[in-house]
Amino acid sequence: MKINLFINNEDVTTEHYDEVRDPGRLREIVGYIAKGDASHIDQAVQAAHRAFRSWRQTSLEERTSILLKSAEEIERIASSIANTTAKENGILFSRTIDEIKLGLIDLRNIADLAPSALQKRIIEDESGWVSVVKRPMGVVACIVPWNAPIILTLQKITPILLAGNTIVVKPSPTASMGVVTLLTTMAKFFPPGVINVVLGGGEVGSALTSHPLVRKISFTGGGNTAVAIMKSAAETLKGVHFELGGNDPAIVLDDADLNEVVPKIVEGAFRRTGQFCFAIKRVYIPSDMYDEFYEKACILTDSYKIGHQLNEEATMGPINNQLQYQRISELIERLEHSGANLVKLGKVLEPENWNNGYYLQPVIVRDVDPNAEIVTCEQFGPVLPLIPYHTEEEVIHMANNSEFGLGSSIWSSDFDRALGVANQIEAGMTFINGHGQTHLGSKYIPFGGIKQSGIGREKSIEVFDEFIEYHGINYHK
Ligand code: NAD
Repeated sequence: MKINLFINNEDVTTEHYDEVRDPGRLREIVGYIAKGDASHIDQAVQAAHRAFRSWRQTSLEERTSILLKSAEEIERIASSIANTTAKENGILFSRTIDEIKLGLIDLRNIADLAPSALQKRIIEDESGWVSVVKRPMGVVACIVPWNAPIILTLQKITPILLAGNTIVVKPSPTASMGVVTLLTTMAKFFPPGVINVVLGGGEVGSALTSHPLVRKISFTGGGNTAVAIMKSAAETLKGVHFELGGNDPAIVLDDADLNEVVPKIVEGAFRRTGQFCFAIKRVYIPSDMYDEFYEKACILTDSYKIGHQLNEEATMGPINNQLQYQRISELIERLEHSGANLVKLGKVLEPENWNNGYYLQPVIVRDVDPNAEIVTCEQFGPVLPLIPYHTEEEVIHMANNSEFGLGSSIWSSDFDRALGVANQIEAGMTFINGHGQTHLGSKYIPFGGIKQSGIGREKSIEVFDEFIEYHGINYHK
């Protein structure tokens, strides 16, 4: 499979193509992706800029109808997109199919919210009238990571397009193929130039974020990249919208039923091999429930079956890329050298394949110092530290003692008590007795974080404010 750039609704070939290897079977090449450069970025941004002139004149109804038609087509080819994406990014096929379904739910939810989000205001009195119109901004740069590339692309581009903007998307080099199929399929329903895709690494991303005709940057990824983007955006005073990393705490209160809670917490930590921004990354447990929690968590973690992402028996796939694999392996090695109390669990499904992919066993670390590296960093892998605590005041302080502030969760059988704690947590999102959004939450919770977890929100009605400009007209009678 050979994947090209996509500019002005046309495939664009390049001089260089990079091979993409299956992170679960490193000997297998999944395909080849075109490597763009600054000149391709310029072509794509110019195409999006030209398309903006007429796209902005279309009605919201027209834009919504085009988007929903494209969503139907994505539904039709979901299985093929999931297959390609799972092969290149290592996330289980079953998870990737769910990711596409959830992405399409998000798309339709956002489309439902658009009419009220984008409506204009008219205010009149005896002196005259005022109208406040929400206008699109122009070309928006959309940069997405590898860990959940389909849902993150869908939730990012939907409000941007509905508001009347045009886009240039740059996916991650280790998750480009599925995203290109998604976007080129959708683009065929849109006028040429509304959706463009350029492929490549950081240098291509940087050419995009510094292009003078790009009016806004919407980025999902790591904090260091966000800093580089903010610096390049400063040159032309662009606005930035950032969805960044997290270090989500789960706080178990002493009235929680561990039989119910532990399976959900383990799943909230190890889903997608721990590679999602709002994975549970540290668990705080009352000291007198600690041993019971630990025993239960180990039994459940040991039931994971680690194997290739297309193996239907596997419940945990590999790590996405070599850098990330090395980072987590070294983190675990440092823990082992420091004498930490850790266990590696799970069943290895294909031992003969173990060194032919970026596989790791899930790790539970007990009796951890609350300030240890494993607690304060974003592991972004299958490692879960358990921290004992004594008082509610102490645990709230520990949970908030982080530069991140994406998600968080409180686990209790007393809703009022849990809400009291939730109100004191420094995070963009707090879940009670779950870690992830419900159906309702997915539509109405502004998705995103505070502190170094991001700037701005996605998904809910608030997202539209990120991608519009206000235009006020005052008529004097
Ligand atoms: P990353 O920051 O390395 O890369 C993200 C994207 O930015 C890629 O497409 C990459 O090619 C591009 N990029 C790299 N350097 C660039 C530059 N100088 N200018 C412009 N673009 C550049 O992140 P990753 O490793 O792909 O993803 C993992 C990170 O993403 C984790 O920190 C995770 O928490 C975060 N994330 C956040 C959310 C959220 O919604 N908050 C969701 C998923 C992932």
